Amino acid sequence: MPLAIEFSVLGSSSGGNCTAVRCGGSVILVDAGFTAKEIAGRLSGIGIGIDEVSGVLLTHDHIDHVRGAGVLSRRHGIPIHAARQTFCAAERALGCCEKSYFECGGEFEAWPFNVRTFPLPHDAASHCGFRLEAQKTSFGLATDIGYATPALIEGLRDCDSIVLESNYDFDMLENGPYPYFLKKRIAGEGGHLSNRECGEVLNEVVCKRTNRVVLAHLSQNNNTEPLARATVSSVAHRALCEFGFKIHAANPFEPTPVFRA
Ligand SMILES: [Zn+2]
Ligand SMILES: [Zn+2]
Repeated sequence: MPLAIEFSVLGSSSGGNCTAVRCGGSVILVDAGFTAKEIAGRLSGIGIGIDEVSGVLLTHDHIDHVRGAGVLSRRHGIPIHAARQTFCAAERALGCCEKSYFECGGEFEAWPFNVRTFPLPHDAASHCGFRLEAQKTSFGLATDIGYATPALIEGLRDCDSIVLESNYDFDMLENGPYPYFLKKRIAGEGGHLSNRECGEVLNEVVCKRTNRVVLAHLSQNNNTEPLARATVSSVAHRALCEFGFKIHAANPFEPTPVFRA
């Protein structure tokens, strides 16, 4: 049987983000926003040893994406792949670690994956989404997105599996308890993607190859899992009917099942 890409979102919210992507005997983590101990525990819960991890890719410097990366690198000799600006902005959180630089918008090899990076608008020093390809299969991940851009659409188009931010419900945010400046930041160009916007992006990127979509980075205050699923399903209704992909939602507390991309 040919090798396949498998993945699990180990956890996702503003409290921490980490996704494991495996192909053959090699596991890459996208972001390491929990403590190293927590990440090792969650990995072992899905049958992956920390010694199988061959690299960590960082999307951006915010603490919910980098928290455990430095310790993972020092303790287990795992290289961290990130943009130069991300290393600079996260210097204190990362500490001394094995660094591998990439250019946001470029691509590189992290065996057995070809990794394509695409820039995303967000209030970080540098921020990107990833498209990992191996064995003619592609896995795309993008969270923390201020608004949809052509680079986002291009990066996720025709992927077999997609992890995409569905951060907030517009009405919940609007009527919720957050102060005005924070509401403005979340809904603004350097903030996050709403459920509706997530559905609109899916309409642009899914195709008959697409097997599944995992909604990620759901706000614990301005969203619920059923609401995110319902809004995304209704906005992307036609694509869903046409291509029949599955929609799942990641949560902050436990890993999703291990999906085949
Ligand atoms: Zn985040
Ligand atoms: Zn962020």
